Amino acid sequence: MASLAPAGHFVQTSRSLSNSGFNVISALSQHDILDIDTKHIWHPYSSFQQQTPTYVVESAQGTRIRLKSGEELIDGMSSWWSTLHGYNHPALNEALEAQSKKVSHIMFGGFTHEPAAKLGKQLVELSPDPLQHVFFSDSGSVAVEVAMKMAIQYWQSKGQERTKFLSLKKGYHGDTFAAMSVSDPSTGMHNIFSDMLQKQVFAEAPQCGFHDAWQEHYFDDFKKQFIDHKDTLAAVILEPIVQGTGGMRFYSPTFLAKVRSLTEDHGVLLIADEIATGFGRTGELFACNHADISPDIMCLGKTLSAGYITLAATLCTKHVANTICRGDAGVLMHGPTFMANPLACAVASRSLDLLIENDWQTQIQNLNQWLKHALEPLRNHHAVNDVRTLGGIGVVEMKDAVDLNVLQPAFVKEGIWLRPFGKLIYTMPPYISSEDDIKRIGTGILNTVSKTYKIA
Ligand code: PMP
Repeated sequence: MASLAPAGHFVQTSRSLSNSGFNVISALSQHDILDIDTKHIWHPYSSFQQQTPTYVVESAQGTRIRLKSGEELIDGMSSWWSTLHGYNHPALNEALEAQSKKVSHIMFGGFTHEPAAKLGKQLVELSPDPLQHVFFSDSGSVAVEVAMKMAIQYWQSKGQERTKFLSLKKGYHGDTFAAMSVSDPSTGMHNIFSDMLQKQVFAEAPQCGFHDAWQEHYFDDFKKQFIDHKDTLAAVILEPIVQGTGGMRFYSPTFLAKVRSLTEDHGVLLIADEIATGFGRTGELFACNHADISPDIMCLGKTLSAGYITLAATLCTKHVANTICRGDAGVLMHGPTFMANPLACAVASRSLDLLIENDWQTQIQNLNQWLKHALEPLRNHHAVNDVRTLGGIGVVEMKDAVDLNVLQPAFVKEGIWLRPFGKLIYTMPPYISSEDDIKRIGTGILNTVSKTYKIA
């Protein structure tokens, strides 16, 4: 029946859904949530046969995560690099709410809006100078796909079929197909999807640590791979300075600077995947700044929208954009439904204001000092291989792979939230963390490691 409500007004309707087998669910107990979860819901890299410990979150505030079971945990993960200002931030809540009263979503084909314009301008101003054009998408992996499309279309416009990418071993760029193809060929998902993945060129992972003295031979393999394939390469793609998922490896700015000058000398594009490193986490606003370089294309995500709503961006230079638009296609061939979602852009824009207002450099310098002190006692433990920090990242690398099923509940018992993987226990806490938060994270790791790895 046609609604008699005035145009533009929301009318509440009720109809029985019982015939469809769908029941309106009221509040769920912790037990009910876990029951539904284990029966029906996938988690990242998860199995329904072998489940890992899963906790029900009730709420989160600042650096504290509250479980439905009553425990309170200190956040050491920033929800995978995203919640830099902490959870439930009043200014971000306000930006979200204010925008929701205007328009929560609107297609970006044919429309634009203030949050996208404001955020676009902020990104162009904050990022290295030649980056002038912003493509908004909905996740880091998609931002990488867009970057790779940009590079391919750039060469098509120049009349060259260049579709290969040179990437680094131990690199990680996301879980979609093109992103998987440039991620580490042995630890990535190449063996599972090998027939579907484009064959790319890989150079050895950088061997020179962030603080190590540079020696020329560290660049030999990259240079060889580059020179051997340079005429078929659309771009080099890498995570600048920090190889995250591939081992939380911090490498020398000299390596990055040499990659930039080689790509520049031969006119090959450079894509910097700053999805994990962007917005101050490594101690520079962008990791590229450690080497004083700017890429042709840059991917941003995670921290960008402060952990509120998924949002990513791919930035490129005027030269790249103009070349693409001069080509036969005449346009960049991508356009996601939720492109430049106004809620996400409004929160991201406010979050970037906060980054500056909060003096991110001091926040990260403090975090680095506190992390160094808090993690140092682990260095001499017999099960630990290395302890390292960079900016707001702290890593305890164990000698052997850790057992998540043992460590995760032990950390929760210690009142801290960490999610180790491989040989790594690592932390990248929210920028707003206090010295006491970091001390407690350090003590929690030390207690857990001491109890778990006793000398036989
Ligand atoms: N690139 C890098 C460097 C990442 O760390 C990640 C996420 N871990 C991605 C790309 C993919 O981002 P998303 O998970 O948002 O798709």
